[in-house]
Amino acid sequence: MRSRRLRFRAVLIFLFASAFVQFSCRPELTEESLAARARKIHDRVLTVDTHCDTASRLPGATWDIGVRHEPGERGSGKIDLPRMAEGGLDAEFFAVFVGQGERTEQGYTRAKEWALKTLDAVRAMCDKYPNLVGLALTPADAYRLEKEGRRAAFIGMENGYPVGKTLSNLEEYYKLGVRYVTLCHSRDNDICDSSTDRQDPEDRGLSEFGREVVAECNRVGMIVDVSHASDKSFYDILKVSKAPIIASHSSCRALCESPRNLSDDMIRALAGNGGVIQICFLSSYVRAPKPNPEREKALKELQAKYGARRDIQDEAVRKKAMEEYQAVNAQYPEEKATVKELVDHIEHVIKLVGVDYVGIGTDFDGGGGVEGCDDVSQMFRVTEELVRRGRTEKEIAKIWGGNIMRVFGQVIAVSRNLKS
Ligand SMILES: [Zn+2]
Repeated sequence: MRSRRLRFRAVLIFLFASAFVQFSCRPELTEESLAARARKIHDRVLTVDTHCDTASRLPGATWDIGVRHEPGERGSGKIDLPRMAEGGLDAEFFAVFVGQGERTEQGYTRAKEWALKTLDAVRAMCDKYPNLVGLALTPADAYRLEKEGRRAAFIGMENGYPVGKTLSNLEEYYKLGVRYVTLCHSRDNDICDSSTDRQDPEDRGLSEFGREVVAECNRVGMIVDVSHASDKSFYDILKVSKAPIIASHSSCRALCESPRNLSDDMIRALAGNGGVIQICFLSSYVRAPKPNPEREKALKELQAKYGARRDIQDEAVRKKAMEEYQAVNAQYPEEKATVKELVDHIEHVIKLVGVDYVGIGTDFDGGGGVEGCDDVSQMFRVTEELVRRGRTEKEIAKIWGGNIMRVFGQVIAVSRNLKS
């Protein structure tokens, strides 16, 4: 009896001792080894950013996207092809952006001209730098280009304004390479109401014409993007779309109150339909800006003087406004949100609906950028933070590209079904 008890005690001591040895010998996850692990994952997975406004810099510019520009230097922009490679970003949706103007025949004509010009510029970039980048039209293109060590350039269209009132324009843009349409921008248009148009407080949601636009998107295989759309527009679009939809650059309202962000209920509805929310890097959508009365006053004055900066139609006026905004930014700099706070938004979506419905949409060159990831060369920082939170490679692969490519595939499948 006594010897049995002794044997039992010896076994217990042995178990404790071996557990202790194993525990104390395990290398601690230092910042260095965490970074190394994150780097490996970042290089292995397909990394996709679903929104930047860099394409607006391309037409007629002396600025060259094939040349590396020093981050933070004046006029360097947030994205160029060498920095994309440096930051390990495999695929970018270059947005063909047209600011909302007059809803007249003349307005539609001008909008279409500008859209085609920007579209041409993205295609010209691919022709000029075939060793660095290729035009991507399908998810398979992105995976192929990644294997070849080239960047994938997708084209999105921010604002349905260039569609005008002519439905066939959608297929024309699709044939030229456009793969998503953000139905509106900062003002209401013929398709739907915007989340930020205060001229008319009534939210009418999706219009009759808008319903036709969504149906046509489903038919041709164009992804419908609800970023910038009002809450009613969002629910209307979700109701009529036969394919999953995306928010190409929006964050979570639960963490940062903004009409541009999606509420928890909206995120649940979006995920319920198989869609994806691509977390936006625009600092004031990530964390409410800290009070900065001098900056706010100066910005308010510029707003009164020029209206929404990106809706300015006259080139010379736009340039002057840009310079004045830059001066305000230099005089009263904004304290930006951090990568940690950005990843909080990703984690919030995961907690709410799971890991299959969230991704990344930087809005670089359209105001996007946070402390620690303020240009495309720093994209790796997001992966690093995800690894720090304990996310596995499989999860990170979904967040960075798997989810949006799945939705894209579903949109193509729905189009095939509707056509056959
Ligand atoms: Zn936008």
